Amino acid sequence: NISGLTLLGLGTMGTALAHAWLAAGHPLTVWNRTPGRAKPLVGRGARIAASAAEAVAANRLVVTCLLDDASVGETLDGVDLAGRDLVNLTTGTPAQGRARAVWAAERGARFLDGGIMAVPPMIGVQEAGAFVLYSGSHDLFDEHRDTLAVPAHPVHVGEDAGYAALHDVALLSAMTGMFAGIAHAFALLRREKEISPREFAPMLAGWLTAMTSSAYSTADQLESGDYTRNVTSNLAMMVEGNATMLRTAEEQGVSAELLTPFMTLMERRLADGHGDEDTTGVIDLILH
Ligand code: NDP
Repeated sequence: NISGLTLLGLGTMGTALAHAWLAAGHPLTVWNRTPGRAKPLVGRGARIAASAAEAVAANRLVVTCLLDDASVGETLDGVDLAGRDLVNLTTGTPAQGRARAVWAAERGARFLDGGIMAVPPMIGVQEAGAFVLYSGSHDLFDEHRDTLAVPAHPVHVGEDAGYAALHDVALLSAMTGMFAGIAHAFALLRREKEISPREFAPMLAGWLTAMTSSAYSTADQLESGDYTRNVTSNLAMMVEGNATMLRTAEEQGVSAELLTPFMTLMERRLADGHGDEDTTGVIDLILH
């Protein structure tokens, strides 16, 4: 069952989505604020709409992939959405997702908010490991699941329209910490002529992969409420280790500013008398 759809927004990501749906044989109507970006898609079978309103009128399923939430509001301002199934793949915050769901309901549309966990070259490549988080109308999701599965594996994370953005940002936030750690690790080695970054990279990637199991033990501690459960490296020992990391940074002429915010929280938790935990207690310290 290959159904047609409309796509608003042909930036880098929107264009990748368009190519995936066209390659899978879905009739596609596209619109972009700057019309020139749609032209290369005509040869691939896309229909170009002259306005966002015309594009929305063409199909029940309407996907937006625009810069930010404000551009979604601007693009769909005054457009008749009654009876449409609106899927918003524009990155936003949980509150923006929830507000957009109310906004869509007021206009008679079913709504799904989405968060794309991929970069454009991964779109439509089934083995790339990409996925798209969705939250909001489960009925919409079930009905269009096959179409939504074309760009990347679809995962519905709740009826609360804010949950896709919340999961998305949680994953991106963890990734940001990882990027900071990778940057610091390479900085430590930077002045050593005998150590090649390319040779170090597989060791670093393998180490980080091995350490990801900490996500499971943290989850287990949070759900049980016992932060000392299955602790293999206790906080007292880790804070000692932090001192070694800071001294090494100094020896290598590297600023420790990427590390110190987390280390400071570890020290605070230790000072509060939780030396027998690992780092899960830091979560309680940063909750307002
Ligand atoms: P681009 O900057 O390449 O494209 C932005 C798109 O938004 C263009 O189509 C642009 O139109 C349009 N746009 C911007 N402002 C407005 C406006 N006021 N009214 C109408 N249209 C507007 O971004 P991407 O395609 O990379 O990203 C799109 C979304 O996908 C973002 O929310 C991004 O966070 C998300 N995403 C992107 C990823 C990536 O790696 N690229 C990864 C995961 C999610 P115009 O051509 O006229 O400028």
